Amino acid sequence: MGAQNAEKLHAMSHAKRTTRSIRVGRLTIGGGPIAVQSMAATRTQDLVATRRQIELLEAAGADLIRIAIDSKADVEALAILCQATEVPLSVDLQENYRLAEAVAPYVQKVRYNPGHLHHHEKSKTAREKAHWLAGVAREHNLALRIGCNAGSLAPEYLERHGHDNVSALVEQAVDHCGYLDEVGFENYLVSIKDSDPRLVIEANQRFAAARPDVPLHLGVTEAGMPPDGIIKTRIAFEQLIAQGIGDTIRVSLTVPFENKGLEIQVGREILADIEAGRFRSVPKGFFDGLNIIACPSCSRVENEKFIELAEDVKRATAYAAEHDITIAVMGCRVNGPGETDDADLGLWCGPTTVNLKKGPETIGSYSYDTILPALMAEVEKLVPQ
Ligand code: SF4
Repeated sequence: MGAQNAEKLHAMSHAKRTTRSIRVGRLTIGGGPIAVQSMAATRTQDLVATRRQIELLEAAGADLIRIAIDSKADVEALAILCQATEVPLSVDLQENYRLAEAVAPYVQKVRYNPGHLHHHEKSKTAREKAHWLAGVAREHNLALRIGCNAGSLAPEYLERHGHDNVSALVEQAVDHCGYLDEVGFENYLVSIKDSDPRLVIEANQRFAAARPDVPLHLGVTEAGMPPDGIIKTRIAFEQLIAQGIGDTIRVSLTVPFENKGLEIQVGREILADIEAGRFRSVPKGFFDGLNIIACPSCSRVENEKFIELAEDVKRATAYAAEHDITIAVMGCRVNGPGETDDADLGLWCGPTTVNLKKGPETIGSYSYDTILPALMAEVEKLVPQ
């Protein structure tokens, strides 16, 4: 490699991040080193299991740990769990953003999903709800993340942009930045996630061009099981970080609970490789063939058999590796229905049954013992054995 290319590579691997800095307790995000974070995959009210998640992530060197909160009972559990670590904590609020005030004393950051604000207080606008969240965050010295996800876009953006997820995601994120700016709240960052790394790259590039001042949390959502989940994530991170885009990262992997620390380890490895200019090219055809999308699990997982089911699906469909079909395996109703809409075949889990879908059409609901044969019957219609 000529000197010129080596210099270019060095410049790319040291691309300057120009975003403003935000405070998340003792952690600074933006304008400096990239923070590596992850999320507990277990039910928040299962104190033993979730404390173990925190322990594993802290031991792996997490800069920030996120916990999902959906109810007052989750908040009570959080009040205990937050004493288990010195690592800054963040909570993930979906439909129940109104719990922001209740969780505030126990954490340093709140992630809200603009795509799930419409479920409650229907008389209020998204702008009013964002203003309220900013007020709570300011009062308790918290940071906010505007967490946009292709599997849960707000209805008005879906209507406006149809299948153009990138435009819908970017517009939704920019609008919510405007809502927080309007009330002079600046301690926030944004994430824009899709399960396709190519769309993650495009969306974050477009957002960074529109709002170069706002720090970005990077992630490929539902990237799935290793090694594919790691490769998909690396593709997006290499492209974006080499352009100076990205201030904190989360590697979403579907792994057994005891391996949760792998997300941090992989994140640090990818950053170290980029820093050293070790970029991995994307093998031709990588995006061809069977694509399994699976979420990393969190407190909302309806049944802990979910991870085993995802691994069984991967094993059972291996014979179809050369065929361009996408199968989504999701742990619950939050991103399950949306993410499975765009897949050829999709599973989203309930407490005792699993919903099988073909694109947006629901085929049926099956027990955890009968879902795999039901899925395989559909796969074999697409790819005869
Ligand atoms: S789909 Fe549900 S269980 Fe899976 S990570 Fe998302 S919210 Fe959690």
